[in-house]
Amino acid sequence: MADPEERRRAEEFLRQDLFRRNAFLLIDKMLELLTQASPDVTALVDEILHTIFFLGRIHRPRVTPESIVGNILNDLMDVFPRPFVLYSSELPRRSPFSCVLDMIVHVTGRENETQIIRAVRELISDPELSQSQDLVSSIICVSHRTDVKDPVKYYGVSMSAAGPMSRKIMIAASCLGSWDEYVAGAVMTYFPTKKKNQNFDGTFQLPESVRCQAFDLREDTDKPPCKSCQNLFGLTSRELTEWVYGNCAEVESLSNLFKEEADVKERARPRSTKYSDEGRVKVERLVKTDVTNWLRLHEFIWHNTTFYTPQ
Ligand SMILES: [Zn+2]
Repeated sequence: MADPEERRRAEEFLRQDLFRRNAFLLIDKMLELLTQASPDVTALVDEILHTIFFLGRIHRPRVTPESIVGNILNDLMDVFPRPFVLYSSELPRRSPFSCVLDMIVHVTGRENETQIIRAVRELISDPELSQSQDLVSSIICVSHRTDVKDPVKYYGVSMSAAGPMSRKIMIAASCLGSWDEYVAGAVMTYFPTKKKNQNFDGTFQLPESVRCQAFDLREDTDKPPCKSCQNLFGLTSRELTEWVYGNCAEVESLSNLFKEEADVKERARPRSTKYSDEGRVKVERLVKTDVTNWLRLHEFIWHNTTFYTPQ
């Protein structure tokens, strides 16, 4: 295959195909899990459809909902019509694998940490899924307080997207539309450049009486906090890798903890003199401008800056 144009097209086709395959498998697994779940979590399937279609929309080359779901198109459209319409105008709040995690936590029971981690590991070990990292998380994190008996456990996964640009867009969307304000404020202190903001510091020290521990989903090991998580939350390890801020599973897991446990959150309030609620609103505005511009590069016009609400 000497012709560069031909080779380019072949590579594009492969990229499209890997995305499409993982997208379909995740949707299929969600539908399977839904049969074991109570009806009140149907919205998680609605949500993952929208998020995946959105990521297909900004994928290069573009991947359409029709080409992902194939012959279950009509059945899905009957039950979940909205994602098929709104994927090209509204932003998702979370990446697809977060919906998968929520579903597994729901089906397994929040207290069963070991079984949850095992179930997620099993799911991603599907040989079909592991051909590409598109839409699949590689790390899970569990957080809970340690100063009470039988604490409620909160989970999170690392950002799942398809390539660095869609990852950045999803981190921005989660900062603006999903994560707890302190967690989002910490992330935005270093996002998107990895350089610390000179005028705003929303980083915080996680209280001592909180466990926040990540595990590798592809290998049977725990995962010490990376440099970014050390900078954001005062976690300690000798790890030197600095992932894109907002990428790690710790972020979602702590955000879920703070949303439910107000007193833990209060103890983690950012202490820098460069922190204020007004400052946070200002950096939010910058991130909103950034993400609007990034979306425009994909011919996605985010008209009224609204997020999709799953039903
Ligand atoms: Zn990290």
